[in-house]
Amino acid sequence: METDQPTEESELAPFVIEGARSSRSKCKTCRRKIDKDVLRLGILLEGPYGTGYLWHHLNCAAKRRFEDVEEAFAAEAWNAAKVVPKDIPPLAELGKLREEAEQKKKERKEIPWAEVSPSGRSKCVTCGEAIAEGSVRVNLGRLVEFGNQVRTNPVKVHPSCVARQLGEADCDTDGETLAADLRANSAGLEAVLLDGALAQIDAS
Ligand SMILES: [Zn+2]
Ligand SMILES: [Zn+2]
Repeated sequence: METDQPTEESELAPFVIEGARSSRSKCKTCRRKIDKDVLRLGILLEGPYGTGYLWHHLNCAAKRRFEDVEEAFAAEAWNAAKVVPKDIPPLAELGKLREEAEQKKKERKEIPWAEVSPSGRSKCVTCGEAIAEGSVRVNLGRLVEFGNQVRTNPVKVHPSCVARQLGEADCDTDGETLAADLRANSAGLEAVLLDGALAQIDAS
């Protein structure tokens, strides 16, 4: 359990909104530290090993668990704080954070996808040549290590370079299902252009 817990169990409200009383708590949403005085939402957890709050940045909670924020506002959860915080943003403002987060999620592309290159500035990672403006480029997954984490990042390639890129050791895109995946993930691309790119991939 976290530190920073109230001592009197009988006082525990289901939600509390407060300025963090120290910098020791961690946000359960983004897993980063919650700096002292930054607004946080505590959600009471009653478990077999005790009762206490799990903390979230108020903004993180708005993005990922808005229903809890709504409930906390309805309960005026700032009144459960030891020191009632000032400058609590209006619920509508937090609602906007949620909308933005959901919009971003929708726009996030799923790897692999094909698209029209909006400029001539991108370079194909396979051959190193520029990808012409207006031509179709394919985004394939590449494994990248960050410390002890491995992530898949999109890399851009010419359709004619896809076969070579799929053979790279750090390629994280499955060649077997590539055509079906591209069809599923390339909603913004005209079908005739996608067909052309798939033909080039097959021919290479
Ligand atoms: Zn957070
Ligand atoms: Zn290329």
